[in-house]
Amino acid sequence: MRSLISIVVPVYNEKDSLVLLVDQISKVMAARAKESFEIIFIDDGSTDQSWDVIQNLAAQHAKYVRAIRFRKNFGKSQALSVGFQLAQGDPIISMDADLQDDPQEIPLFLDKINDGADLVSGWKVNRQDPLSKTLPSKVFNAVVQLMSGVKLHDFNCGFKAYRKEVLRHIKIYGELHRFIPVLAHGYGFKIAEVGVRHNPRQFGYSKYGLERYARGFLDLLTVIITTRFIKRPSHLFGGFGIIAGLIGFSILFYLSVHWLMGTHIGARPLFFLGIMLSIMSIQMISLGLIAELFLYYAKSNENEDLIQQKINIVLN
Ligand code: UDP
Ligand code: MG
Repeated sequence: MRSLISIVVPVYNEKDSLVLLVDQISKVMAARAKESFEIIFIDDGSTDQSWDVIQNLAAQHAKYVRAIRFRKNFGKSQALSVGFQLAQGDPIISMDADLQDDPQEIPLFLDKINDGADLVSGWKVNRQDPLSKTLPSKVFNAVVQLMSGVKLHDFNCGFKAYRKEVLRHIKIYGELHRFIPVLAHGYGFKIAEVGVRHNPRQFGYSKYGLERYARGFLDLLTVIITTRFIKRPSHLFGGFGIIAGLIGFSILFYLSVHWLMGTHIGARPLFFLGIMLSIMSIQMISLGLIAELFLYYAKSNENEDLIQQKINIVLN
C-alpha cells in the first residue's frame, strides 16, 4: 500500500501563489511511486480572494486538496496546529504558501525522515529577504541556539517535515511554531536539518516585521521554562531566590554589625538594597513553591509523552 504524506500550508492573503503552489507540489509528488499525498490549506482569515482560489482548487483536485477556513486571522501557529491535527498522513510536511519554499525540495525532507530523523527543519542558506530581516534573524538564531542547545541554523523556516508521533506530543499556540524543534528536542526526538533554496517573495507582502524577534525572545523564555523547568519550577524560581537571599542577608548582617557599633545606617543606599533583595528572595522562593503546588494538582498524563516503545504493556 502507498503511504500518505500530508502537506500543511497556512495561508493568509496569498491568492496569487496558490494555483502555482498546488501545481508544483502535485508534479513533485506524482513522480514518487511509493507515496500518495494530501495538501491541507488552512486559510487563516484571509481578506483577499485566497478562499475563492482554494475552493476552486479543492473542486478541481478533490482527491488531494482539503481546506479549512478560520473565521478570522488567528495566526500561523493556530493554523499549523489545526492542520497537523487534521493531517491523515505520516510524515507531515509544513510549508509556506508564498512560494518562498520550493516544492522541488520536498524529497530532501522525506529522505531525512526515511534515514531516521523525527523532525527535519529547513535552513534557508541564501535567504532572499532584505538585510533588515536577515540580520536580526542571525542574532535571533544565535541566541536561540545558545539558550536551547538545539543546533539549528534557522528557527524561522516554515519548511519542515515531522513524523506524526512528534506532533502528537507538542502543543503550539501564540507564535510558538518557531520553537517546535526546541520543544521536540525537549521530548528527546531526533532533529535534522537540510539546506534549502529560498525564493524572493513574488506576490503579496510579508506578514511579519521586526516585532517578531521581540516576541520571539519572550516565547523563547516560555519554551525554556516549559522544556527544562516544567517538572521543577521551584528550582528555577528558588534558584534566583536563594542567590538574592544570600546577598541580601549578607548585606543586612554587615550593616547590623555597624549598627551595633553605633554607626547610623538608616540612610545608606546599601540598607535599602539589602531589604529589597531579602524581600525578593522570599517572594521568589514562595513563587516557586506555588508553582510546584499548581503542578502537583494539575498533574497531567504527561508520562505518555516520554515513551518511545512499549513491550508487553497493556494500556489501562
Ligand atoms: N501566515 C498565516 N497567518 C498569519 C501570518 C502568516 O497563515 O497570521 C502564513 C503566510 O500566508 C505564509 C506563512 O505563514 O504562508 C509565512 O508568512 P510570511 O511569508 O509572511 O513570513 P516571512 O516569509 O516573511 O517570514
Ligand atoms: Mg514568506
